[in-house]
Amino acid sequence: MQTIIEPFRIKSVEPIYFNTKEERTVILEKAFYNPFQIPARDVLIDLLTDSGTSAMSSAQWAAIMLGDESYAGSTSFFKFESAVKNIMGFPIVIPTHQGRAAEKILFTILGGKGKYFLSNTLFDTTRANIEFSGAEGIDLLCAAGKLPSVPAPFKGNMDIDALKNKIQELGANNIPMVIMTITNNSGGGQPVSVENIKAASAVCKENKIPFFIDACRFSENAYFIKKREAGYADKTIAEIVAEVFSYADGCTMSAKKDSFANIGGFLAMHDKELATQCRNLLIITEGFTTYGGLAGRDLEAIAVGLYEVMEESYLQYRIRSMEYLTEKLIAAGVPVMQPAGGHAVYLDAKAFLPHIPLHQFPGQALVCALYEEGGIRSVEIGSLMFGKYDADNQFVPAQMELVRLAVPRRVYTQSHIDYVSEVIINVFNNRNEIKGLEITEETPLLRHFTAKLKPVK
Ligand SMILES: *Cc1c(COP(=O)(O)O)cnc(C)c1O
Repeated sequence: MQTIIEPFRIKSVEPIYFNTKEERTVILEKAFYNPFQIPARDVLIDLLTDSGTSAMSSAQWAAIMLGDESYAGSTSFFKFESAVKNIMGFPIVIPTHQGRAAEKILFTILGGKGKYFLSNTLFDTTRANIEFSGAEGIDLLCAAGKLPSVPAPFKGNMDIDALKNKIQELGANNIPMVIMTITNNSGGGQPVSVENIKAASAVCKENKIPFFIDACRFSENAYFIKKREAGYADKTIAEIVAEVFSYADGCTMSAKKDSFANIGGFLAMHDKELATQCRNLLIITEGFTTYGGLAGRDLEAIAVGLYEVMEESYLQYRIRSMEYLTEKLIAAGVPVMQPAGGHAVYLDAKAFLPHIPLHQFPGQALVCALYEEGGIRSVEIGSLMFGKYDADNQFVPAQMELVRLAVPRRVYTQSHIDYVSEVIINVFNNRNEIKGLEITEETPLLRHFTAKLKPVK
């Protein structure tokens, strides 16, 4: 196969600051073994997240200069609104400063004690906003999605039988919304098929439950559909995207992902009454309805980015980058989620570090080892992020112990990725030296952001 090259040239660059392993050992200790606490300058390759870390295009930077900063009815808003309407087909578009602001508004209105939100897998901020409202979030991921090492084309799919059963069990009246996350970020960036979206949507319609899409990676998901689902090979990405959203009553979006923007998000929907409630909350929390916590220039960058992210040469390069790293790791015997996800490569820390018990956070231990060895910053998606304590204060582990290496869009080149694979393989070959961690300080919600840890003696 011919090398798939980056479909861009580089016009502006940022330096990487190098440090030594000895220096990183000290930095890690000072950061309490939590990479969220490491200053970015001390990171060589930053794969903490693909959120807000994209390189914007020259067209986006040019659009930024057109930003209309009028408080009400800015020209930039109408460009943004028209892009979302055109691409996703929702008549109502409400800008927010991030995806979680859209979630906060939605779940404040719909949530509360005794309510249940069903999903393939709720992302961490989505789950936190649901739980903060007093409601409960329930993940109904298909069986294939729970086996990291077994490849399948659509491991992000929802278990439709489980969805029907849960609705029966809990009562449709107690379920204000079903949320489909595309791609499934916390489940390995795995795609959801049109067939599955259509089926979930039909079950919701039958039960009169609104069906929303957590749309952060809508374009990556569409590319997987084009490549893997029967009947979609000849459709354009725009056509697939339009079909996907045609099954939904609305969506929440973080423009920090599939829009190449450094900040931004939105809520989009059909329901006028719900929109009125959302806008009322928006005005007291985010801002007026035509800017919602964003500057006019941010709306411009999103409007351009939403189209750019659907370009096939970009998507081909994007998805290939994850496959390329995954293939190198598989060849070296490293346990990695298969097939590769759309925005990240996920290591299976349970299989990588079988000598570390789950309550000693094997995922976080691996995250720390990758930083110490090669200055690579990644994030644990396992029991530090999703683990809980039951009524007797006993540790309840997460479904999987993953380490996510999220790749910022259009930022790193193939040699950066080669370096990443070398570091991971090196750590893998010396894995028996890695020790578990224990928590010394934590918060009740989203503890992984601020938790302090130390190595187990
Ligand atoms: C990032 C993300 C969010 C939250 O968006 P923010 O812009 O970070 O607030 C919600 N859902 C998914 C799937 C995400 O990846």
